[in-house]
Amino acid sequence: MTIKQLLNRLAGTPLGARVKLGVPMSAYTSFRVGGPADALVEAESPDDIALLVQAAVASGMPYTVIGLGTNLLVLDGGIRGLVIRVGPGLSDTVWDCSPHTAVAGAGVPLAGLSRAAAQRGLTGLEFAEGIPGTVGGAVVMNAGAYGGEIGQIVDWVEALDLAALDGAHSHVGAAVVRLAREELAFGYRQSVIQSRPMAVTRVQLRLTPGDPAEISHAMSDFASCRRSRQPLEHPSAGSFFKRPAGRYVGPMIEACSLKGFGIGGAEVSVKHANFIVNSGGATAADILAVAAHVRRSVLDRFGVELEPEVRIIGEPAAGGADGSLRGC
Ligand SMILES: Cc1cc2nc3c(=O)[nH]c(=O)nc-3n(C[C@H](O)[C@H](O)[C@H](O)COP(=O)(O)OP(=O)(O)OC[C@H]3O[C@@H](n4cnc5c(N)ncnc54)[C@H](O)[C@@H]3O)c2cc1C
Repeated sequence: MTIKQLLNRLAGTPLGARVKLGVPMSAYTSFRVGGPADALVEAESPDDIALLVQAAVASGMPYTVIGLGTNLLVLDGGIRGLVIRVGPGLSDTVWDCSPHTAVAGAGVPLAGLSRAAAQRGLTGLEFAEGIPGTVGGAVVMNAGAYGGEIGQIVDWVEALDLAALDGAHSHVGAAVVRLAREELAFGYRQSVIQSRPMAVTRVQLRLTPGDPAEISHAMSDFASCRRSRQPLEHPSAGSFFKRPAGRYVGPMIEACSLKGFGIGGAEVSVKHANFIVNSGGATAADILAVAAHVRRSVLDRFGVELEPEVRIIGEPAAGGADGSLRGC
């Protein structure tokens, strides 16, 4: 693979001038850690994504599609190949009222969409108040909180089937697929898109008219819950581990006396034990070391194997540990 080949392929297209080389992923993740991506481009349309994937494949480069990086831990060696970041150009929302739906671009900030629905007196998206990240990322992760999940209100998801774009001459239109909710296999922080090479481009959500006062009340309750229980003052990627069936992660970690436990610049939040925070100058290796210690302690004490909710991607720094948590 060569970056030069990629640059040559994109030269003469508007994307050529938008390629950033060697940018630190710490600037593109809420954890504020992560080594450099070989190349990064913000995609502003489905065509951009398709062109970038085709150029990467033709240059023999791997590629990774990301949103706002709020559920990512990028390792200190960075990401080989091309990072395609869903940009603000994919942020249109079209509202309809028969039935009540919102068709939102993959780059729409989820929490903003939730507030816009509330302003229209529509119920269904209150749970998303305060969940950072894009609509695309939310669908991939089946993001949820306070009893709601995006999968419950998705009508369909439009995506590019990236496997269909592996030839430079393949037609973009042929790669567009529309998946109905039943085909998306939504589960707890899971969707079929996690195991298929797809880039989400837009999503139709089904909402219902509700009582504006009740909607607004629920959302301010959720917001104040987050402010009081979550360490929003420190960089993190939200809850680090998934909730195992029938158990709560925070109390188990707390029972192991690990609140405040730290390595380097990473620590278990004193406010919420399932948040690992970057308390200043953390590396991804620090975060992984804290996570590995937490995991061992919970396994020893409760016999429960914690699985990361955060997606761990990229390469370890030369000579660094890659984190045995990857692929759990
Ligand atoms: C303070 C804080 C609180 C949080 N609270 C919650 C919460 O309450 N509930 C919850 O569920 N999550 C929570 N999160 C985690 C995170 O915000 C969600 O998972 C969010 O939906 C991720 O969206 P993103 O755009 O940041 O995705 P990213 O982190 O960029 O990506 C997540 C995954 O989706 C893939 N991806 C992203 N966009 C696309 C696309 N368009 N096409 C294909 N693949 C894509 C990426 O490759 C990656 O595998 C929290 C995070 C933080 C920092």
